[in-house]
Amino acid sequence: MAGESQPKRVVVVGAGWAGLGATYHLAKQGYDVTLLEAGPYPGGLVAGWQTTAGKSVEAGIHGFWYPYRNIFALINELEINPFTTWTRSAQYSPAGLEVESPIFQDLPRLPTPLGTFVYTQFQRLPLIDRLSALPLLYAVVDFDNSDEAWRRYDCVTARELFKDFGVSARLYKEAFEPMLLVGLFAPGEQCSAAATLGMLYFFILAHQADFDVVWCRGTVGEKIFRPWVERIEKAGAKVLPKHRVTDLIIDSNNQATGVVCGDEVFDADAVIFAVGVTGMKKIVSSSPSLQSREEFRNLHNLGAIDVLATRLWFDRKVDIPRPSNACFGFDDTTGWTFFDLNALHDEYKHEAGTVIEADFYHANQFLNWSDEEIVAKVQQYLTTCLSGFTDAKVIDSSVIRLPQAVTHFAPGSYRHMLPAKTSFENVFMSGDWIINRHGSWSQEKAYVTGLEAANLVISQLSHGTPADILSIEEDETHIQIARNINQTVRNLGKSILPNFWLP
Ligand SMILES: Cc1cc2nc3c(=O)[nH]c(=O)nc-3n(C[C@H](O)[C@H](O)[C@H](O)COP(=O)(O)OP(=O)(O)OC[C@H]3O[C@@H](n4cnc5c(N)ncnc54)[C@H](O)[C@@H]3O)c2cc1C
Repeated sequence: MAGESQPKRVVVVGAGWAGLGATYHLAKQGYDVTLLEAGPYPGGLVAGWQTTAGKSVEAGIHGFWYPYRNIFALINELEINPFTTWTRSAQYSPAGLEVESPIFQDLPRLPTPLGTFVYTQFQRLPLIDRLSALPLLYAVVDFDNSDEAWRRYDCVTARELFKDFGVSARLYKEAFEPMLLVGLFAPGEQCSAAATLGMLYFFILAHQADFDVVWCRGTVGEKIFRPWVERIEKAGAKVLPKHRVTDLIIDSNNQATGVVCGDEVFDADAVIFAVGVTGMKKIVSSSPSLQSREEFRNLHNLGAIDVLATRLWFDRKVDIPRPSNACFGFDDTTGWTFFDLNALHDEYKHEAGTVIEADFYHANQFLNWSDEEIVAKVQQYLTTCLSGFTDAKVIDSSVIRLPQAVTHFAPGSYRHMLPAKTSFENVFMSGDWIINRHGSWSQEKAYVTGLEAANLVISQLSHGTPADILSIEEDETHIQIARNINQTVRNLGKSILPNFWLP
């Protein structure tokens, strides 16, 4: 590091999007970065690997939506080309095809949310049910992703929100709840209304093109993380898999000086946690220094959700109209998606049979089933959607159980989530469950929080240039105007009756 004999040491814990993002930026700035990962390879929830038979599998397939600006910028910087073109998607219920989505950016742009409303092709849902969503626009305007808005909406369930705003039972069951099951991984009565509004706005409502999506042409591990980790190592960082962190060493000045990992201690001038909720709770359980702080003890109030990722190889080609498909109505509290990997992945393009990825969210009741029972269930469900699967034979399969894997944005959970800054001066948090104001979700949010944590380290240790974080595209003018008017009215109300109403 210029002007100093030794570069400052940063230890990053967890090698998902957040940890890799932080490590890469800090390594480029000349820090001595060590990235400790409990698993056998980097990637976190997005890791991919090969079966003993040499077939690629991953912990669920991952889409990259139009507003993932920072991830797309990273891909450009890495000069890699991992993605498909924009894909169209469909939605199925046990009754058959329900919805088809176009590529929204190819259609004339209408003020939001008109494009979503007009261009989405509902096969069955009556217009009157779709129109019942209109009053909900008030909540969309009112929820501006501020701390105040989160506190206002977080204690309400998504189901109550939709009920209070007059959404019809059918629209809720056939459109909103399916979106929650695949977007927040839980049914409406278990989702925070704040998270619901934030997620729907980011992925669907903010701008017409936001729902457009691309997929990796192989596993994300192979297409993105492998070349990225090579770059990270070239920039000088050490990436150490099979290193599970258990504690922090804190000195009398409230500073972390080391990270404990089994029998080893890694010295640190700053620490970034980039670990999911379940992993972080485990660290707190084994860490007297973190247990000494209320903010970390409170993490035990947070929860996570079970997910199941399956990959099935069939003996013949089945015609699948759209490469990505979401399904609802098969189980009360579980959503699932299926993907035509012959269409998406280079590896399966010329395969003689069909290769399907089918992922189940909020899959609690399935996790104890045997692989055979799960595979039979997946084929039965696929056959319900597309009759071509009836006679197809499964010739190989992979079942990956992911207990407590994804963040549960449960009602009331916001107050226990952590911002990037902790009460330890040089310990920072990142990951898709961390409180920030960027407005993104999932992989994009995880990556952005990694960059934000890196920027806090840069400011704390006074060296290097902060990462340039692209904000999400600004609100359309009519939304900005509506939000300004709403804010003025709210402030007026507060000046007359401060703290009278429940937030
Ligand atoms: C089935 C499924 C489908 C999904 N689909 C999508 C999608 O289509 N699009 C999208 O954007 N997002 C999707 N997501 C969400 C996305 O995967 C996450 O938002 C994102 O990967 C979170 O990244 P992260 O870096 O915050 O955490 P993680 O990816 O959870 O990384 C945390 C890392 O910390 C490590 N760790 C834990 N404990 C320790 C410890 N004690 N010491 C060291 N390391 C530790 C873990 O092994 C892990 O590698 C999906 C998730 C799943 C499970």
